[in-house]
Amino acid sequence: GFKMGIVGLPNVGKSTLFNALTRTAAAQAANFPFCTIEPNVGDVGVPDDRLEKLAALAGSKQIIPTRMTFVDIAGLVKGASKGEGLGNQFLANIREVDAIAHVLRCFEDDDVTHVEGRVDPVADAATIETELMLADLESIEKRRAGLVRKLKGSDKEAQQQDRLLAAAQEALEDGKPARVVEVEAEDAKAWRMLQLLTTKPVLYVCNVSEDDAAEGNALSAKVAEMAAAEGNSHVVISARIEEEISQLEAEEAEMFLGEMGLEEAGLDRLIRAGYALLRLETYFTVGPKEARAWTIREGTSAPQAAGVIHGDFEKGFIRAETIAYDDFVALGGEQAAKEAGKMRAEGKGYRVKDGDVLHFLFNT
Ligand code: GDP
Repeated sequence: GFKMGIVGLPNVGKSTLFNALTRTAAAQAANFPFCTIEPNVGDVGVPDDRLEKLAALAGSKQIIPTRMTFVDIAGLVKGASKGEGLGNQFLANIREVDAIAHVLRCFEDDDVTHVEGRVDPVADAATIETELMLADLESIEKRRAGLVRKLKGSDKEAQQQDRLLAAAQEALEDGKPARVVEVEAEDAKAWRMLQLLTTKPVLYVCNVSEDDAAEGNALSAKVAEMAAAEGNSHVVISARIEEEISQLEAEEAEMFLGEMGLEEAGLDRLIRAGYALLRLETYFTVGPKEARAWTIREGTSAPQAAGVIHGDFEKGFIRAETIAYDDFVALGGEQAAKEAGKMRAEGKGYRVKDGDVLHFLFNT
């Protein structure tokens, strides 16, 4: 599955947000299953209205959303790369995530201490990014030193790694995150495997006060500008509101959102923004037993998509029968879609599209 790490300076609202995320998921157990893996790790169901519609049409007994993992990575402070706070321990946690949700304090409250003594989300973002850049630099130096012997031979893999590490190092020494490096397609995988912290896509989460939840404020507007300039994305959320919502039943929550002038829970937007940031897509498997959503990266081939369900599905892949979500719903279900000629047989080269309803045929 895909993992998002929640980072941010102390007292910006990370735990409030994480607890809301996991509690909401726990409360809506049937549709949004949540399980605690470790105290700071939560699996959250990805909200998707399409799944309910498919289940209703197919009479599925169970609805199983696809999941996204959130990790609350506390302890990031100025000096972390030098071992301050929880130091390097949590940096290792960040290496493992696919993307970073960076919570920024965009609320004023004299009762909540700011570690730097002022509310400035853009400066806070820079503080954290600097720590991540320093941590990357340090690990690059170590890794390059470790490659020196291999480079004396003609180890192609070592050469590729060193070349990529050198490019990242150059950017970092120039004061830029490694994500500014433009990587050729043939290097993309090796580049990802380096797991540099500053190559991870960032979703800035502007934590605003309850009153600013609907419209944002001047601080979140600055963050939006910064995110756009960096090619990252942002969402405006009130962790406090999300915390309150997480304690309500679904119906009450709807009403509460309406009163606050919000169309949907911020957490839903957060999860979806993370999904989009990672260029993830959803396909469905639908039957009388269950309607289920699965996550793939954009552009995934049919056999690879089958492999998300089970490795054997990928190995023995023969073909996929597919109906587009819109056809499935417009025609009123699988049988009708089939009769209307909307079920297609697709082979190994097919790139699964977001919303495809799939059946896989495979050899065992
Ligand atoms: P963390 O250290 O980043 O995990 O921050 P917490 O989630 O523990 O929040 C720190 C403090 O800020 C707590 O007392 C929260 O209740 C408070 N807090 C979080 N979000 C908001 C907010 O939107 N407005 C206000 N006024 N306080 C908030």
